[in-house]
Amino acid sequence: NLQDKLNKAFKTLKGQGRITEINVAATVKEVRRALTDADVNYKVAKDITDRIRDKALDRKVLISVEPGQLFVKIVQEELTELMGGEAQQINTKGDPAVILISGLQGSGKTTFSGKLAAHLKKQGRGVLLIADDIYRPAAIDQLKVLGEQVGVDVYSEPDNKDAVSIARNGIDHARKTGKKIVIVDTAGRLAVDEAMMQEIEAVKKAINPAETLFVVDSMTGQDAVNTAKTFNDRLNFDGVVLTKLDGDSRGGAALSIKTVVNKPIKFISTGEKMEALDVFYPDRMASRILGMGDVISLVERAQQAFDEDEAKRINAKMRKNQFDFDDFLSQLQQIKKMGNVKDLLGMIPGMGKMIKDLDIDNDSFKPIEAIISSMTPKERGRPEIIDGSRKKRIAAGSGTSITQVNNLLKQFDEMRKMMKKMNTMQASGKLNKLMK
Ligand code: GDP
Ligand code: MG
Repeated sequence: NLQDKLNKAFKTLKGQGRITEINVAATVKEVRRALTDADVNYKVAKDITDRIRDKALDRKVLISVEPGQLFVKIVQEELTELMGGEAQQINTKGDPAVILISGLQGSGKTTFSGKLAAHLKKQGRGVLLIADDIYRPAAIDQLKVLGEQVGVDVYSEPDNKDAVSIARNGIDHARKTGKKIVIVDTAGRLAVDEAMMQEIEAVKKAINPAETLFVVDSMTGQDAVNTAKTFNDRLNFDGVVLTKLDGDSRGGAALSIKTVVNKPIKFISTGEKMEALDVFYPDRMASRILGMGDVISLVERAQQAFDEDEAKRINAKMRKNQFDFDDFLSQLQQIKKMGNVKDLLGMIPGMGKMIKDLDIDNDSFKPIEAIISSMTPKERGRPEIIDGSRKKRIAAGSGTSITQVNNLLKQFDEMRKMMKKMNTMQASGKLNKLMK
């Protein structure tokens, strides 16, 4: 399922041993494949993963203390956005407010109707359930049992075979008995058919519901998405109820349905018991899809493979504005180990600019390394003592020109200024805010 696939995608990070721009790209690609495999529309999957990649690079995942966590957080945010962002309420305006329940047979309409009645009753509303399934007598009994269980009246007309008139009569009854909300539980067929569609359309037209909900079994995968589309084309419903999420967790359905019909999921159902109803929170569903805990520990482990002690030591020096040429050299050596200089981008604040100036490949490091090697330990620690005669000595010792030495010193100075600026921002909390 989707969760397994996403977890596998994040394993790419682990396999690489360290997090770099390159394996962010690889991971993003895997995430995209996982989403398309879960029936998320290709273009949507591409858009969301492009945004994930841009955000990841933008927010300096590579230099963050816990890049893996930050990456997962970005994916989580984008999934949340894809599922609608905020939790969406149902509309309960009207006298009475009418809530129409639609969906295929077996999707969980009747069960959900009982749960919703209980949920609204708990909020202190007077609720009436209407049994509007005219095909199966057992359906009426089922709703009556649930109604009794949650303490909500059920309106039914076992001998009436006209769904529209039952619904109308039920609403009149609610008005007379002072009920503020009615929930109309309708019939479904095993598959979409024209007669069923016409019936529910007619009911909707007759009772003008404040809220039309479409109930769908999350276990039915791609079918769930197709059914949602068919119902939405005919009913233009207001929200989706995703049922049976207690089984195999199918985040794919949640992602796809929102994408295809562009209607919010409003409730999820996680069991047969009347209590097993939850308001749908996109952010929680995103965490669930990501299996958050697991993924975070996974990427944390990936981080440890990277020369963590060295990274921490240098990080601490940067923070104290003590970054010197020895640290710089150590960074260069790490970068060379990575095999591609592009990995450097963003790793050292201010370095990106320097790379741009240098038109760099791995050989471009040689003069830099030579210059640093020709410095005394004291000079590396405190480059500001490097005066004219020291420059001459360093240039001669490293086989470079004084101009090259000057350039490196100037760029290094700019780098340190940049770090200082970042530290100041961080101290004032600005950077933290940017990186959240
Ligand atoms: P309807 O035909 O759409 O009215 O569907 P029902 O409400 O009768 O539900 C069909 C079956 O699914 C019943 O056996 C329910 O107990 C079961 N069911 C409904 N919702 C859930 C759920 O969230 N989780 C599980 N595990 N079973 C559910
Ligand atoms: Mg039913």
